[in-house]
Amino acid sequence: MSQNNTFKIIDFHIHIGLKEHWHRWVHDYQKSSKSEFYERYDELTDPEKFAKHLKKHNIVKAVILPDICPITTGIVPNEYVFEFCQGQDVYLPFCTVNPSLVTHPEQELKKYIQSGAKGVKLYPPYNHFYPNDSRLYSLYELAQAYRIPVLLHTGSSVFRGSKLKYADPIHLDDVASDFPDLVLVMAHSGRGLWYDKAFFLSRLHPRLYMEISGLPPKNLLNYFPEMEKNIDKFLYGSDWPAIQTISSNIEAIQKLPLSEDSKKKILYENAARILGLEETEFFIRD
Ligand SMILES: [Zn+2]
Repeated sequence: MSQNNTFKIIDFHIHIGLKEHWHRWVHDYQKSSKSEFYERYDELTDPEKFAKHLKKHNIVKAVILPDICPITTGIVPNEYVFEFCQGQDVYLPFCTVNPSLVTHPEQELKKYIQSGAKGVKLYPPYNHFYPNDSRLYSLYELAQAYRIPVLLHTGSSVFRGSKLKYADPIHLDDVASDFPDLVLVMAHSGRGLWYDKAFFLSRLHPRLYMEISGLPPKNLLNYFPEMEKNIDKFLYGSDWPAIQTISSNIEAIQKLPLSEDSKKKILYENAARILGLEETEFFIRD
C-alpha cells in the first residue's frame, strides 16, 4: 500500500520575505522558476495562511531563513523571520550572521537563540568568507554547545556577486574536524562542481549532512549514484520561493526509484533527528 500521501515532511530550506527585501535579479530568477510566490503574494506572505499552505502539503515543520546578504540577494532581517514565525508550530526560525557586519558573531547568535532561533544559516559565497574563517570559530563553538545545526550554502549560485570559491565544501572539512559534535548541513550539496566531494565528506564526518534544495530530484541518483549507502545524511529542502510550488520537488522525490524507508529518511526522519524534534526536552550543555 502506498503511503505517499501521508508522508510527513520537513522542509529544511524555505526563504520568506517581501518583494522589497530582495534584489531585482533574485526576483527575475524566482519568476523564471514560475514561482507560485508571485501569483499568490498576499496569501503566501501572510504567516497564518502560509502555515496552512505548508500543512496542506503535509509539511509539518519548515526551516525559515533570513538573508543578510546585501551584495548578492538582499536583506530579510532576523527580526522579520522571528516575528513571522511566532505563534505557528510549523515554523522553525533560523537566524543568520554575516561575519563582515558584526564584531562578535557568537554574541549575535546567542541573542538570536534567546529570541527562538533553532539553527543558523551562513552564506559564504554571498558574503565572501570561507566557512573555516577564524572569525566564525566562536560561533561554531556556541552552536555546538547549544546543539543547534549550522546550515551553510555550498555550490553554485546564479545571483550576482556570488563567489564560488567560498562555496567549495572542502572548507567544511576543517570545521567538521575542529567541532566534532557540531551538526553541519551543506545546503545544495555542493551543487554543480562538487557533488562527489560533498558526498565523500558527509560519509567521512558523522555530523556533516547534505541538503538537496535547488537540485532537480530526477537527477539526484546521477549526482549521487550511491545515495542509498549514505541515506541517513540526506535532507529535503525546497529553496522556496525559487521553485514552482512548495510541493513540486516532494512529488518528484516520491517518484524516485528509492525504497520507501529511504524516502522517509530524506523527507522527514533525518531532519527530525538533527533538529531534536524527537527529544522530549531541549538539552543545553554549558
Ligand atoms: Zn536558499
